[in-house]
Amino acid sequence: MTSSILVLGAGMVGTCTALHLQQRGFEVTLVDRRAPGQETSFGNAGLIQREAVEPYAFPRDPGFVLNAALGRGAEVHWHARGLWHMAGSLLRYWRHSHPQRHAQATQAFSQLIAHATHEHDLLMVAAGAQDLVAREGFRFVFRTPQAFDEAAQRAAVLHERFGVRYQAQNTAQLAQAEPALRPSLAGAVHWLDPWAVHNPGALVQRYADLFVARGGRVLTGDAGSLQARSASWSVQTTEGPVDAEQAVLALGPWADGAIRQLGYRFPLFIKRGYHQHYRSPAQVAQPLLDAERGYVLAPMQQGLRLTTGAEFAPMDAPPTPVQLAKAEALARELLDLGPPLPQPPWMGARPCTADMLPVMGPAPHHQGLWFNFGHAHQGFTLGPVAGRLLAEMIQGQTTWIDPRPYLPARFG
Ligand SMILES: Cc1cc2nc3c(=O)[nH]c(=O)nc-3n(C[C@H](O)[C@H](O)[C@H](O)COP(=O)(O)OP(=O)(O)OC[C@H]3O[C@@H](n4cnc5c(N)ncnc54)[C@H](O)[C@@H]3O)c2cc1C
Repeated sequence: MTSSILVLGAGMVGTCTALHLQQRGFEVTLVDRRAPGQETSFGNAGLIQREAVEPYAFPRDPGFVLNAALGRGAEVHWHARGLWHMAGSLLRYWRHSHPQRHAQATQAFSQLIAHATHEHDLLMVAAGAQDLVAREGFRFVFRTPQAFDEAAQRAAVLHERFGVRYQAQNTAQLAQAEPALRPSLAGAVHWLDPWAVHNPGALVQRYADLFVARGGRVLTGDAGSLQARSASWSVQTTEGPVDAEQAVLALGPWADGAIRQLGYRFPLFIKRGYHQHYRSPAQVAQPLLDAERGYVLAPMQQGLRLTTGAEFAPMDAPPTPVQLAKAEALARELLDLGPPLPQPPWMGARPCTADMLPVMGPAPHHQGLWFNFGHAHQGFTLGPVAGRLLAEMIQGQTTWIDPRPYLPARFG
């Protein structure tokens, strides 16, 4: 008999979960209050980060922390109310970022990242979405020789341990690879394995179109209306209530609010981020991270997209795009950015966990309920891997990656 399931949230993670469940014979309804891929999965830097084998740790360099605390630099911005709200989770994040514990998290995280490009490729081919992706890597550029040398040494270690491929480029090699950049940079680490998507929201929409073409249903509805019945789950949609035997919560940065209503208190927090597009006359060959300043420039169909670092603020606080203004000034030091497109800055939020690992698996205290969220800085990268892993768990088959580090039960 076909088993029915609701997937709540049609970002990259929920859409890929829906596709993988459908592939395994489930009757799947994907529900979102907006069209697929219109939130966090829309506004990110579009990178499928095969190089990101280490999850993003809480910086432990006292100079960095002092600068962030004093509001200097573009990497970090904070609202006092945001820090207060997240204090407990941030403290745990700090503890988990201790080098020894970070190494353990890296062991688990790298297992997921290792499959990211391959799993995307399978879906891209099926969805006819290869036109949206460039497979030529992602460049970290450095302003000072010391930072460049340290990064090149670190890249060698990561290559040795995890097989990620890179090329260290000195000033002249970088100038040749990226002639649009002003020639004053110390060098670059060109990661060769990551892919760059030129319209992240469109990729999610293509995956959702594939899901529909294969017989799936996408409905508009509110996850807040989810109700447990005796042996099923029900949600309100614009087409009326929809019931299914099981349900998946894939609500990205909104997951915390949803699981709190169900009685769960997990150490989740968010890092908000912004983007702005520029009509740059200068073309960069690959996306780049200005590694000592903390922003990314990525060529998009809409223009050259500048994305910012972390802002610690409540989800519902009005936008404060101060990092965008700082990062824009810094980017103008590197290249001719041109004028911004006449659109207000976009804002989204990275869904983070204190132990830097996503939450994927059965809800500890509810029969037939599953979680798939908390993919932080790499949710766009990990959507297909996360979708496959959760679908295999739901189907009850042996999973191709050990799911234990990601199970929700680790938080009680
Ligand atoms: C500035 C920035 C740059 C980034 N760059 C990258 C990058 O280059 N590479 C990378 O891998 N990751 C990147 N990320 C992180 C990545 O974007 C996220 O991890 C990822 O998009 C999360 O996907 P998701 O499906 O979990 O969440 P989302 O895409 O936010 O999807 C959640 C969905 O839930 C829906 N929803 C919420 N509440 C309800 C409700 N009550 N009822 C119905 N539906 C609801 C929303 O409408 C949304 O569609 C970046 C993030 C930011 C902010």
